[in-house]
Amino acid sequence: MNALPSHLELVQGVVLPKPVGAHPVLDFVNTRSEWTSRGPARTEWLTSYEAFLIWNSYVGLLSPASVFRLIEQAGSSPTEVARRLQATLDFRVDLYDVLTDQATDTTFEAAARLIEKAYGGRRLVHADEGLTWELREDLALPLHNLALLAGELLTGPSREHVRTCPSCGWLFLDPRGRRRWCSMATCGNRAKVRAHAARVR
Ligand SMILES: [Zn+2]
Repeated sequence: MNALPSHLELVQGVVLPKPVGAHPVLDFVNTRSEWTSRGPARTEWLTSYEAFLIWNSYVGLLSPASVFRLIEQAGSSPTEVARRLQATLDFRVDLYDVLTDQATDTTFEAAARLIEKAYGGRRLVHADEGLTWELREDLALPLHNLALLAGELLTGPSREHVRTCPSCGWLFLDPRGRRRWCSMATCGNRAKVRAHAARVR
């Protein structure tokens, strides 16, 4: 197989972008290319519900065992799986608009209702070190888990450090105010090349 560009990785047969957002919710938003337009992405990495599950395992949000069981469940519920994937892609757009302060009332409401639903679905269970919140392991788990994390990000101290790459629109955390690009290897480099071309023209 040909070598992939350095910002991509082949994970369990699925090509995924390497995380650059410094936060799993931002890396979730960055699972499509070019947020500069809202139409279909030139490159979409969440091409199936299974790819979404594998991405969750790749960024450490779900255990490989959990992903294995959910892939099995997914195999017997194609209609629900298609609906879950669409809900995931819809949430990704709404969340992007909320995080970049472009949300309309409608998109904010949609994102907020999903986050509330995820919070409402938590169960208080016994863990090794006392009590903890847990979501049921069903086909809604990966999206609801992301919605919980999105709720924390939107209401927590990291919110003010979310930045947008001026080239591709990807999001990343920049607590020290030093990052300009999502990645030097892609957008940073392209900008350098453009600047150089402009100088020699
Ligand atoms: Zn970029």
